[in-house]
Amino acid sequence: MLTSIHGYPRMGAARELKFATESFFSGQSDEASLLATARTLRETHWREVAESNIDLIPSNDFSHYDAMLDTAILLGAVPRRYRDLGLSALGTLFAMARGYQGPHGDVKALPLRKWFSTNYHYLVPELEEGVPLSLSGEKPFDEFLEARALGIETRPTLIGPFTFLALAHGPDGTASHTKGDASKREEELARVYGDILSRFAALGAKWVAFDESALALDLSASDLTRFEALYRKILERKGAVRVLLQTSFGDIRDAYKSACDLPFDGIALDFIEGTQNLDSIRAHGFPKDKLLVAGLVNGKNIWKNDYAKSLAVIREIAHICGKGTCPAIAIGTSCSLLHVPHTVSREDSLDIGLRSHLAFAREKLAEIKELAEICEISAIAETAAISDIERHPAYARNRAVTREPIVKRNDETQRLVASLGERDWTRTPSVAERAEIQATSVPLPGLPATTIGSFPQTSEIKSLRAHRRKGDIGEAEYRDAIKGHIQDCIRLQERLGLDVLVHGEFERNDMVEYFGENLTGFTFTAHGWVQSYGTRCVKPPIVSGDVARNGPITVEWSRFAQSLTEKPVKGMLTGPVTILNWSFPREDIPLAQCAFQIALAIRDEALDLERAGIRVIQIDEAALKERLPLRKEDWKRSYLDWAIPAFRLTHSRLKAETQVHTHMCYSEFEEIAGDIDAMDADVISFEAARSAQAILTSIAESGLRARVGPGVYDIHSPRIPTVCEIGDAITRALSSVPAAQLWVNPDCGLKTREDAETEASLANMMEAVFLARAKITKESAS
Ligand code: GLN
Ligand code: ZN
Repeated sequence: MLTSIHGYPRMGAARELKFATESFFSGQSDEASLLATARTLRETHWREVAESNIDLIPSNDFSHYDAMLDTAILLGAVPRRYRDLGLSALGTLFAMARGYQGPHGDVKALPLRKWFSTNYHYLVPELEEGVPLSLSGEKPFDEFLEARALGIETRPTLIGPFTFLALAHGPDGTASHTKGDASKREEELARVYGDILSRFAALGAKWVAFDESALALDLSASDLTRFEALYRKILERKGAVRVLLQTSFGDIRDAYKSACDLPFDGIALDFIEGTQNLDSIRAHGFPKDKLLVAGLVNGKNIWKNDYAKSLAVIREIAHICGKGTCPAIAIGTSCSLLHVPHTVSREDSLDIGLRSHLAFAREKLAEIKELAEICEISAIAETAAISDIERHPAYARNRAVTREPIVKRNDETQRLVASLGERDWTRTPSVAERAEIQATSVPLPGLPATTIGSFPQTSEIKSLRAHRRKGDIGEAEYRDAIKGHIQDCIRLQERLGLDVLVHGEFERNDMVEYFGENLTGFTFTAHGWVQSYGTRCVKPPIVSGDVARNGPITVEWSRFAQSLTEKPVKGMLTGPVTILNWSFPREDIPLAQCAFQIALAIRDEALDLERAGIRVIQIDEAALKERLPLRKEDWKRSYLDWAIPAFRLTHSRLKAETQVHTHMCYSEFEEIAGDIDAMDADVISFEAARSAQAILTSIAESGLRARVGPGVYDIHSPRIPTVCEIGDAITRALSSVPAAQLWVNPDCGLKTREDAETEASLANMMEAVFLARAKITKESAS
């Protein structure tokens, strides 16, 4: 029985790629040393996969920044403004990823978007009119040969043409497959991917995988036609190469029949999120001339696979397909392992009981192999009695672990959740009435200016926290030092003229980890990093029990910051949905229950802040959209119906005088505007700078009642925005949103930026605000 994975984490178990890349960015090391680190990592990862006896070892899953960006470059989709910089290949790649400001020019980065239902972000390729796509790079071939030179035969993996086209945009920001020249693009793509297959055929590759996660989206008839037309042409050119259609993040209900009918040699289906894939097999069977890669090992969560459940799926597939006509089945992952940390083996300090329940990427490789072995005995003899399987030592070991309860119970939490009632979900009076009351409780000028919360996490601040962790400095000394930074931060904001200030979030390394550490029910790994975008990694906590708050978490910091200024300082909390979505959740209770447990803890914190005299409280729901199912018909029932109430629960008991803000990242929210409105926040800031117009249109069209702050500049890039650019952004916003409803802010927190950049950017932002206010006053006078 074959085994396969979509892809493997590329940062390295100790985030070597991150550190090498950042050192290169800061000029401390050169390109050659970055390339050398990259090469070593690729080798290490291929060896890990090979040593685990995985048959289809992916290559080209490495990336210096992002696989979508690599694909754009491979296909020649490098917009002229980047080519004109005249940088090296790697320099151009990083300019597209992060923007460039220097002797060669000044360009912004491509937009970042969330990759399907994950916290990974890809760069949105931009297809310039009149520039045909053509095979323009060597990366997948080079890496294939690099592995071969090490004695490892790999299966190159590429983002497929359908997904590429579905996610790429034109220069005006509209989806490229909806544009007039879409059919020309299809032809070009069919040709380039055909060329890629021919090249691999010539190199003697046995398998090539095309990642077509976009098949898990809602597809229209014309999408399906495009998918079929593309692959009918491409697959004509596969020669002796076998082509695996790789899907993930849900089922492919719309495309299932087409996928079966096209001459693919294998199809990888997700049976974790894509439970409906089984229904498709039930309804249509599965072609016996294709390999079915059964995605049974979860690429998005960290719990050990439950072999009994996985085997039940395999047995069901075998049963549906019937004796003798059974397709060849391989065991695989539900999606790339990019979305889980590298290995449990470094987690020495974790509770041993919990640890035995965990499987990160490397451990998942072993699970895949074990499952394949266990399946083999059951497949050899259709008659293999369940008892034969149960006697398999790996199966028995797995059963012993997965039967044990994972989590710690908290009876009080369970009682509170069970007794939630109407008043817990609804804040009174209405948002409009609250706005009037808040005009007095939080008086502000027109176009109020604020930031999203964090200020730069400088190396000084990071080392302060590290010293405290190691015990080099005492708690009092640590707190005093943090207070010093808060003081500087408040002074800076006052000097710049911001209206609603923040304390800077210096006491937290991460907005979710910080709350998790201060609540019971969460467990932390030491090295469980997962790539979020570029060199940025996050270390999601594990929800390992019922959640409860032991006492105030942020109150002392907020009260201190407020004591330094007359201006309102925002209390800064992370919302329950974001805490849950950026954690690895339990699988033994519904997500809704877990979200309500967290919401109750955050509500208590918000009430404590209010009692401490904090007049503005921001409850971030940065990751609200993350768990939104990919298919519309699943949105309400399986997500929004509990996620929105969970947020409302956090602020339902606050006074009308208290102004509640929330913030959302990458929220192309046009389709869930009603739900965002139902969150009932007073002010919402959006991360919009890289795709501003779409957000503005949605705000205008949806009739959102909250006041809004669509970010006026992009904080993901070190580039300092000019006054003029920000002024344009404000003017654009004013053409969609009434001045009385508009706030001005950067598009996200500033923690990843440097002090100097931040000060310069905010100074430009404030200058633009002052100019805009003066213009409004003048216009209303005349
Ligand atoms: N308040 C958080 C910060 O400023 C929000 C971060 C986010 O949206 N990801 O860092
Ligand atoms: Zn954000």
